[in-house]
Amino acid sequence: MVPPFRIPTTRMVQPTPLPTPCPFEKRFPSQLVRDDAFFMSLAYNQAIDAWRQDEVPIGAVIEIGGEIAGAAHNGVEGTKDPTAHAEILAITQAAAKLGDWRLEGATVYVTKEPCPMCSGALLMSRVKRVCYAVPDPKMGCLGGATNLNDLPRVNHHLELTGGGVLESECRELLQAFFKLKRQEPEG
Ligand SMILES: [Zn+2]
Repeated sequence: MVPPFRIPTTRMVQPTPLPTPCPFEKRFPSQLVRDDAFFMSLAYNQAIDAWRQDEVPIGAVIEIGGEIAGAAHNGVEGTKDPTAHAEILAITQAAAKLGDWRLEGATVYVTKEPCPMCSGALLMSRVKRVCYAVPDPKMGCLGGATNLNDLPRVNHHLELTGGGVLESECRELLQAFFKLKRQEPEG
């Protein structure tokens, strides 16, 4: 059966409001100095990519043996998946790359302190060290609101660097995003 031909009717399409463009630029750290600021700069750039997709600007990078094993940004809105946090996506990438769920020797750089879910995932994936830029006293579970690393019977502990690495840059990015979001008319 051929469906009957219908003359297309023009529809009134409501213009979708464009996301507020990101006013921040990516960082270009020297490739020669692979220190905490270098890897956090890459996490920051991931956060910029998140904003450009109208996502909360949080980025994560996983370093193993001086190389990048995972790099991701928050993608909760686009994927409509509440677990699509930067850390979770980066952990999945790194595990696939290593072919092992144990991310031994890994350092995870993330622009904001990991939430309960991500802090748990970081412990479960046995990463060596977590370096986060902005402490989160509300939801952070690696020192901000609480510290899963201090669970008395857990036998894997993370080395922690909380705050101090690109902290003001990452905080400014988050605060600017939420400020603009509050100003946007409700869609
Ligand atoms: Zn999280």
